[in-house]
Amino acid sequence: MRSIHSLAKQLQKDFPQFEFDQSETFAWSPSTATIHWQSNEADSAAFLLHEVSHALLGHAEYRRDIELIKHERDAWSYAIDQLASHYNTVITDELVQSTLDTYRDWLHSRSTCPHCETTGLQIKKHLYQCLACSQEWKVNEARLCALRRYPIKKIHR
Ligand SMILES: [Zn+2]
Ligand SMILES: [Zn+2]
Repeated sequence: MRSIHSLAKQLQKDFPQFEFDQSETFAWSPSTATIHWQSNEADSAAFLLHEVSHALLGHAEYRRDIELIKHERDAWSYAIDQLASHYNTVITDELVQSTLDTYRDWLHSRSTCPHCETTGLQIKKHLYQCLACSQEWKVNEARLCALRRYPIKKIHR
């Protein structure tokens, strides 16, 4: 398997319209057309191709949390269908599912009514409302791809 550094170098050559920036995390920044990547994960190459997929698919603003999850799913599909074999990278279904699970857990916890625990409806970008008890609650901005697998483990690192 090729090193993450040589992969990033090759991608920078193949996609000069994007900036590839080695940093602390994996993220796609649409405003600066920058793909941030890091080399500390066993699956770094897979995540890097995932970020490139966000970039190539033109993912930017989302209005509802559910759209964010769709972006995540689409970016993995694109990475697997269009990029993985070309860049000699294995993207396992297990990796994709565990990553998507993280998003699903996140969506579940933020859409649960703090008052009665019924699942609420997102009525604005940062606002949910409970259909059972009418309680409204605010949610924070979720940065695209800021969420990673094992969020709890990360805190202890
Ligand atoms: Zn409620
Ligand atoms: Zn993503």
